[in-house]
Amino acid sequence: MSSLAVANGELYRDRAVILRTYKLRESDRIVVLLTQRFGKVRAVAKGVRRTNSKFGSRLEPMSHVEVLLRKGRDLDLVSQAESVDGLTPMLSSLDRAAQGMAVVEAADQLSLEGEPDERLYAMLVGVLRTIGESPSPLNVAAFFWKVLAMSGLSPVLDGCVRCGEADGGETALVAFDFNEGGALCRRCRSGISISPAALDIMRDILGGRLRQALALEESAATSEVTALATRALEHHIERRLRTVSVSLRTSLSRWAMMSVACQVCPQPISTKLSTCVSGVVLFTLRQRSTADFGRPTTTARSGRCCCEM
Ligand SMILES: [Zn+2]
Repeated sequence: MSSLAVANGELYRDRAVILRTYKLRESDRIVVLLTQRFGKVRAVAKGVRRTNSKFGSRLEPMSHVEVLLRKGRDLDLVSQAESVDGLTPMLSSLDRAAQGMAVVEAADQLSLEGEPDERLYAMLVGVLRTIGESPSPLNVAAFFWKVLAMSGLSPVLDGCVRCGEADGGETALVAFDFNEGGALCRRCRSGISISPAALDIMRDILGGRLRQALALEESAATSEVTALATRALEHHIERRLRTVSVSLRTSLSRWAMMSVACQVCPQPISTKLSTCVSGVVLFTLRQRSTADFGRPTTTARSGRCCCEM
């Protein structure tokens, strides 16, 4: 996408969803945006924490805005922000806000700076609008499964992913395995159990019957589909991060993590993945290990942080 390259100091305009913000100095924030054409962008919003800020509440997570940004060497600068979709519907209930935050966090983990992903942007805008209009219990799960399918990771649901036997009759699919990427019959079963009702819902979501799925009332099966979708997405993100930095993970796996937080931005880091919530591989750890030397040793290690990249 070199045609979209913007030189330092130049202004550029785009639509974006605010993924996350963190404090910077007294009255500023760093805003992480998923833009339509430029991928994930981090930009400083000056004075946004003042009560009389010209940005108002337009730069809060989940907001959909049109922004004018000035390209910087490390961080861009938010020059203007106009609301496209306001936050009011999202904040009208706890359920909606929780669903909105879940999809925004997932989009944050799935997007990379400098890598435009218009489909992810369009799907995020779409799901946020859907959540604002109707709080279906399957909004989040449907988004996760659709995003996975878009990444070429559509699960196999009509037959056993291992032996190929079709579902139905003698062969019932009873399990789902994230490593295998689909459902399994009783003979091949591995992974976790899955109910026939949950399988049907997933087929609806991924088979062009999304509207039907989203009309369902909350039930054990919808909860099961949401739990499966969350684990599938985590599995995908972890795998991707592992491929990004095999050596980093290997070196960390020998350590018992004592304290995990980014020292530059105050983002918590998932101890399991050694990433901050933005999904960028980083580590700033104080660790103690008894495994290697037979006695406790404390070591501080630092890595690149998402806010320095
Ligand atoms: Zn099988």
